[in-house]
Amino acid sequence: MYQILAERELAPNIKQFMIDAPLIARKCMPGQFIVLRTSDKGERIPLTVFERDPKEGTIAIIFQEVGKTTKELGRLRTGETIQDVVGPLGTPSEIRNYGQVVAAAGGTAAAVAYPEIKALRLAGNRLITILGARSKDLLILEEEMKRYSNELYITTDDGSKGHHGFVTDILRKLIADGKKIDMVLAIGPAMMMKVASEITRPFRIKTIVSVNPIMLDATGMCGVCRVRVNNEMKLGCVDGPEFDGHQVDFDQLIARQNMYTEKEKESFHIYESKMKK
Ligand code: FAD
Ligand code: MG
Repeated sequence: MYQILAERELAPNIKQFMIDAPLIARKCMPGQFIVLRTSDKGERIPLTVFERDPKEGTIAIIFQEVGKTTKELGRLRTGETIQDVVGPLGTPSEIRNYGQVVAAAGGTAAAVAYPEIKALRLAGNRLITILGARSKDLLILEEEMKRYSNELYITTDDGSKGHHGFVTDILRKLIADGKKIDMVLAIGPAMMMKVASEITRPFRIKTIVSVNPIMLDATGMCGVCRVRVNNEMKLGCVDGPEFDGHQVDFDQLIARQNMYTEKEKESFHIYESKMKK
């Protein structure tokens, strides 16, 4: 059992938990994640380790309540426990000094991108961060991103803050303006990562993405998270989650992400109606 030591609401339906998990706190690297179950009958879901404190033995996760399990997780309060937390999982990000990095993060994926942005900055890179959300209310981690970015651009789909449009609009503009870009880190919904990779491809700018397929065991056994990369079958959980964006088959990723949409909706409705009783 893993105790929740603190909680924070970052935006409507987006929460941060600090969890007592000393072994994970000691070993976790940027780019790695955990898999948790809220109860012994619950499903397994992957969430990125947003921050860790090896001395205190704590990790932080940030999650958006999008369906049954994340809703169930969001109902837990400080002092309560999570059934299982397994990790650290996945291959750590490759942190080195690339030079000037453009990091584009859309939606809750800002929480996935943040540990890597921080590590890249501390490794000596110059960071241009583009942080996007559907609207101002859903924008998270602006202050944290500011701390580790040399330049920060904000975008919202509805224009309620910053540039009215997508993070990829700014990426396109930076390239058009002739900015020297040594690496692009694009983390967000699969469609956003696909567009970012298409923007950088003609310019041969190294582009790293973090894929988000459905994962179950997340240790390379079940194969649910398979992704086609450079025409080879890779496992998102152990070979990734980060890959060269120019090599990822995003159409297949998107199709596989949506394979169980009807079942997920059904499970959510059953859960919500039980909760109302
Ligand atoms: P559901 O209604 O069951 O599913 C909603 C959608 O989420 C589905 O259509 C599907 O595309 C995706 N999903 C469902 N089950 C899984 C699963 N077992 N594994 C992966 N995706 C699934 N979200 C965050 O908010 N914060 C994070 O830091 C974060 N980190 C992630 C890191 C990795 C490596 C991966 C693969 C995903 C990450 N996610 C993160 C996404 C998160 O796992 C899903 O939002 C969550 O599993 C949805 O579960 P649900 O039951 O609430 O929703
Ligand atoms: Mg689910």
